[in-house]
Amino acid sequence: MPRSSSKKAQAQPVAEEQNSPRYHINLESSPDSQSMSLFIADRRCYACQQGDTPLDVLAKDPEDVMQQIVEHCAATPDYLLLDTPLKEAAFRLLLAGGNEPMNAVELGRALSERWAMSAYPREVSAAVVQRLLDHSPYYGIAKAEEAKA
Ligand SMILES: [Zn+2]
Repeated sequence: MPRSSSKKAQAQPVAEEQNSPRYHINLESSPDSQSMSLFIADRRCYACQQGDTPLDVLAKDPEDVMQQIVEHCAATPDYLLLDTPLKEAAFRLLLAGGNEPMNAVELGRALSERWAMSAYPREVSAAVVQRLLDHSPYYGIAKAEEAKA
């Protein structure tokens, strides 16, 4: 396949919200889905974490652990604290949304809104989010384009 200059479209940062790539957590990712279950389970609220053991979690599907967060933990006040590092915050936000793919603009806006009510509002720009989305292999965050039909 000949190399083309089709990369040009990415030059304009976030002007076109609809066209910018959406990201989700690859639940089957690194290094396997079992440890992804544990990884996600760590983000549950204290009460939920008391409800099972790591062995129980290992037996679960990452999707089911995430569902627990969607239905409960995401609504607890400690879920997304103001001092949460941005990558962690983006990860938690995707979990809270049931891993519905989001782009940098949507993620930045959602985080800003989430933190707007605090004493020290934290503004999160789409450009900053985009940069971290492209460099978060640890969290299994990946482009979701092909996942959507
Ligand atoms: Zn919970």
